Amino acid sequence: MLREHVSLKSMNTFGVEAEARWYAEVASPAELSSLLADDRVADPAPLVLGGGSNLLLTRDVDRLVLRYVDDHLRVIAPGRDSHLIEVGAGMNWHAFVAWSLANGYVGLENLALIPGTVGAAPIQNIGAYGVEIERFVNAVEVFDRERRCTTLFKHDFCDFAYRWSRFKRDEDRDRYIVVNVRFRLPRRGELQLDYPGLRDELAAMGIDTPGARDVFDAVCRLRRRKLPDPALIGNAGSFFKNPIVSGDVARALLANHPAAPNFDAGPGRRKLGAAWLIDQCGLKGYRDGDAGVSAQHALVLVNHGRASGADLWRVARHVQATVRARFGIDLEPEPVVI
Ligand SMILES: Cc1cc2nc3c(=O)[nH]c(=O)nc-3n(C[C@H](O)[C@H](O)[C@H](O)COP(=O)(O)OP(=O)(O)OC[C@H]3O[C@@H](n4cnc5c(N)ncnc54)[C@H](O)[C@@H]3O)c2cc1C
Repeated sequence: MLREHVSLKSMNTFGVEAEARWYAEVASPAELSSLLADDRVADPAPLVLGGGSNLLLTRDVDRLVLRYVDDHLRVIAPGRDSHLIEVGAGMNWHAFVAWSLANGYVGLENLALIPGTVGAAPIQNIGAYGVEIERFVNAVEVFDRERRCTTLFKHDFCDFAYRWSRFKRDEDRDRYIVVNVRFRLPRRGELQLDYPGLRDELAAMGIDTPGARDVFDAVCRLRRRKLPDPALIGNAGSFFKNPIVSGDVARALLANHPAAPNFDAGPGRRKLGAAWLIDQCGLKGYRDGDAGVSAQHALVLVNHGRASGADLWRVARHVQATVRARFGIDLEPEPVVI
């Protein structure tokens, strides 16, 4: 079960080489508990890996790399208008979205084709096309490394925000391993069509009264067209979060650049478009050896072939420094950087 010196190249969507000192896959809290009792890997905390699609490995991982592979799915409480569904952390996210549609649930269609696992989805509260998963998360079941048992955290305890949850806090990151996620999925509900481009795509498909399945198809078409496919060119999707700034900072930017995309982000706060900022700096298509910024999408860093994680991190730092020098705005990476 426990393997030594395992290559992680095929386990991260950037496709960079890095080696795990120890590697194991487990499928239940009991297996997890006995693995973590093994002195060789008990400390330091393991790196928990899902699909490796939100991760930049800049070096070897000198500890246990762990995958929680249980992918069960069960309806635990059918209700009148919605059902409570438990899904193992190891299930593929897109497969779960497809299952939900095929079984008559509404809500997850905007989140189609996001790579990775169900267990990683609450970590950064994945979102796309105007929807974040927190809207459907009822609870997250975790294995607590400190107490050596499982605990069920209700939605409010998870502290979800834009690309954020409590599981990203320094004090919690190493403590909890997600084993199941409980979703409350409605049987019917309003479709979310406001995100730019979605209605146009539906119109291009010849659909004027869409159902959830149509939205799913439109999102898949848009994503396939706009985002580079990690199977063809290594990447981790959007590399930078859209910066959330004060009203004053946004106003100063808009005074000089009235076309800069900006959105409401709560009282006195605006969310700016990171892709626009990077594009304005002329960095779309920028390349440093085999590491670069996608020519297709300014937010995506790409591995043209043999880039290392350190090469990609150098490009990320260059993008951050250029945007800071030009606009005085800090870009924060979205993936976890090891
Ligand atoms: C082409 C592309 C498009 C993308 N589009 C989007 C998008 O539209 N919206 C979006 O939000 N994201 C997007 N992403 C990012 C990524 O798909 C998501 O963040 C996804 O949830 C990561 O899942 P994963 O299983 O690959 O996680 P990994 O990359 O393996 O891990 C990510 C983090 O979660 C932790 N983690 C993973 N599993 C567990 C677990 N069971 N318990 C505790 N911690 C865990 C890891 O330790 C790490 O810190 C995209 C990525 C790519 C490559």
